[in-house]
Amino acid sequence: MENLEKVIIVRYAEIHLKGKNRGYFERVFTVNLEKALKGLRHELRRTSGRYLVAAFDERDADEICARISRVFGVHSYSVGYRVPNDLEHLFTAAKVICPQDGTFKVDTHRADKKYPLTSPELNAEIGARLLAEYPGLKVDIRSPQSTVCLDIREDGSALVFGSFEEGVGGMPVGTSSKGLLLISGGIDSPVAGYMMAKRGMDVNFLHFHSYPYTNEQAKDKVVELARILSRYTGGEEVSTVKVTHIQEEIHKKCAAELNVTLLRRFMFRIAERVAQMRGAKCLITGESLGQVASQTIEGITSSNAVVTLPVLRPLIGFDKEEIIVRAKKIGTFETSVLPYEDCCTVFLPEFPAIKPKLPYIEEEEKKLDIEALVQEAIGTLERIPLR
Ligand code: ATP
Ligand code: MG
Repeated sequence: MENLEKVIIVRYAEIHLKGKNRGYFERVFTVNLEKALKGLRHELRRTSGRYLVAAFDERDADEICARISRVFGVHSYSVGYRVPNDLEHLFTAAKVICPQDGTFKVDTHRADKKYPLTSPELNAEIGARLLAEYPGLKVDIRSPQSTVCLDIREDGSALVFGSFEEGVGGMPVGTSSKGLLLISGGIDSPVAGYMMAKRGMDVNFLHFHSYPYTNEQAKDKVVELARILSRYTGGEEVSTVKVTHIQEEIHKKCAAELNVTLLRRFMFRIAERVAQMRGAKCLITGESLGQVASQTIEGITSSNAVVTLPVLRPLIGFDKEEIIVRAKKIGTFETSVLPYEDCCTVFLPEFPAIKPKLPYIEEEEKKLDIEALVQEAIGTLERIPLR
């Protein structure tokens, strides 16, 4: 039928909270939506309080929805029709949306308060017409099997759709500055990056490897994790740095029980330099309190002591189980559990120090030329593109 335009309605989350900054948030959100839909024919329209994706190929509808479902800031979305707001058109669209049997109700929202019929009147009118059209239907106001939603807009149009699909929520990526995620091949760090991106942070990726102790597959795995994450976070590349020489020096010269502690301090120092190069304002890790020997408050103190940038640890209070649930939802879990060698597991001491004290750590570190080791590591910095 003419004038029955298929659309995907996108409603945004939290942006409305931002008062004066609202315009800025909406601009970033628009850019992110466009980025997500890149390569698929479409038209993105702003209407009051919503976005409409229109003029797309019907065969792309599922892919468009999948991509929208990964854009932070999306509160919900619906596939439906945009029609002129007269009863004939509302009914025509409702007929397409509504199944022919089972229980249903019509649920109207009117932005246009001058519309000649009230919401209950519209519910009754369209509901009655649907009942007459499809004898297998029955009204159930409390818990219907399907709902026909009518959204009467202020511009003479109406949106007619069947259901609200839940979006990922959060804030548009890019509205909360930039952070550098220390990403390993494990389960936790990808989830940590996801969580900060959800709060609007532009997440860049940094990975440390110990070639030749760790192999190419370990690197490929991290790139794959970053690629999956980037469907939510954006991000175009993974920075990699080799720390083999640092591990060998530590192994040769320092107390074995401090191997992990000392390596982590080097990672943080290097990460801070890379963050400065990439314009990132903080570091992000996947640490969770008490999960392993180095993730104690003493361990955290010892790593924080070598950097001035804030270190965000969004998983600090999470159980492993909770992290796994999230990793599965994000889609990184399957990749994270593939076997690999992390650089942290090379030269792993039998009994790592669980509560290393700073003076002891600093004393051991005096045996190393810290600046030269950091410089050498920075010299191995590479960028691996994600696409
Ligand atoms: P993950 O599952 O994220 O690997 P984990 O439980 O294995 O975490 P650790 O190996 O102690 O814990 O690492 C703690 C955090 O340090 C990681 O979440 C990550 O942010 C960072 N990290 C560890 N190894 C690397 C690496 N090779 N490259 C970059 N960051 C790393
Ligand atoms: Mg790990």
